[in-house]
Amino acid sequence: MTEVPVRDPRDPESFDRILSSMCTEPHPAARAAAERFLASNPGDPETFQSIAAIEAETVAALGEITGLADPEGFVATGGTEANIQAVHAARNRAATDDPNVVVPESAHFSFRKAADLLGVELRSVPTDADGRADVAATSAAADGETALIVGVAGTTEYGRVDPIPALADVAADVDARLHVDAAWGGFLLPFTDHEWHFGHAAVDTLTIDPHKVGRAAIPSGGFLARDRETLDALAVDTPYLESRGQATLVGTRSGAGVASAKAAFEALWPDGYRETAARAGDNAAWLAGALGDRGFDVVEPELPLVAADLPESLFDALREEGWRIARTSTDELRVVCNPHVTREMLESFVADVDRLRE
Ligand code: PLP
Repeated sequence: MTEVPVRDPRDPESFDRILSSMCTEPHPAARAAAERFLASNPGDPETFQSIAAIEAETVAALGEITGLADPEGFVATGGTEANIQAVHAARNRAATDDPNVVVPESAHFSFRKAADLLGVELRSVPTDADGRADVAATSAAADGETALIVGVAGTTEYGRVDPIPALADVAADVDARLHVDAAWGGFLLPFTDHEWHFGHAAVDTLTIDPHKVGRAAIPSGGFLARDRETLDALAVDTPYLESRGQATLVGTRSGAGVASAKAAFEALWPDGYRETAARAGDNAAWLAGALGDRGFDVVEPELPLVAADLPESLFDALREEGWRIARTSTDELRVVCNPHVTREMLESFVADVDRLRE
């Protein structure tokens, strides 16, 4: 039998040239836990009781990261499911038949899916010049029919953190709920000065994905709520199961995602994640500097995500070279300095930029 070399760049599990993904290499403990619980289904908690207990511990762990004692919630399939359920809960709890949701234009496209599926109006509001939610514009767009206001703590394109406490005030003014999408930023932000979580503002629900910077195996997202009523607003009866109700969008779920989230948390919280965040921040600053020195326009990174204006031909040549890079909606290069991205990778990337731009 031929052995597949683990670090071969053509290996589908290799991250050696991936600079575009919001996900990263799972921690070894997360991989092992995922394998152990591959056949467990947390969607059927009375049958698969071990994984149900691990899910409860994982939700508690996510609560610890996001400043919420006694959190309600579940391990989702990812940020998309968590965001959909946030809109779903807000719609079900709204006092109006014609609810709307106000999001910054930087919000992830999962909110478009949510609005479409749930029949709510999505009001997308321009961001400020620096890519953060504009509080005045959000306030102008919100009204008595607003069920939910969304803030993003770590935007997908530029890594920006919205002014969450100010958005909470806007939500309170119109009696709406506030959701924070920290799907990507949630494992970086505890090591910054940003105000982003339940402990900082009147946040009702929050998305935080272990399968992104949390280093869990895919699929592992997180949906957290401040109160039980939110979960109740989502729950449907589950007649053929022994458990009482299900608040997830999907039925059968991956025990691997749940167990790996817990294992990664135990291995890395807080010091490992702190070290990761610091290294990622240094890498982003280094890359932004290196691209700036070469005359490219660079968007100053906030969280470790670097955007820069590269000619299209150079972008294409770098892709040809095997670099997995992505673009913003306005066609800037976008490099996500996730945990697997090393300084050596970035040096090699910049060396290719130098060689290919000639
Ligand atoms: N929210 C944000 C801020 C994201 O960056 C992403 C994905 O990159 C999502 C939500 C969706 O997450 P998923 O792809 O895990 O469904």
